[in-house]
Amino acid sequence: MWTLEVQTRQRVSFVDITRDVARLVADAGDGAVVVFVPHTTAGVTINEDADPSVRADLEMALERLVPRDLPFAHAEGNSDAHTKASLMGSSVTVPVVAGTPQLGTWQGIYFAEFDGPRRRRVLVTFLPA
Ligand code: ZN
Repeated sequence: MWTLEVQTRQRVSFVDITRDVARLVADAGDGAVVVFVPHTTAGVTINEDADPSVRADLEMALERLVPRDLPFAHAEGNSDAHTKASLMGSSVTVPVVAGTPQLGTWQGIYFAEFDGPRRRRVLVTFLPA
């Protein structure tokens, strides 16, 4: 297992970690790579990495779905971040063939920050076929 360190710079941001993950499994052969985020106010998702406006649209849509000023019970003031993290999920799994993650042409892997800026960790595990 490997650990990626991600320094986020805003409260909400999507950080492209596709190349970091690909580099880690480059010599790994055939199998699957699991990318896991061990945090409760951040997640991970796969989506388009060609047009950056897709990321901006995701941020906008999640903000509309889960506004920060809902009447949350959790007293830390970051319940919107907890909720968005659960909507994204805490892991993705990608098939790997000959050390290459089999992402679609337009797909990228995004670390999804909802309560930054913070220093975050992403755990990357290769499961051999
Ligand atoms: Zn909290």
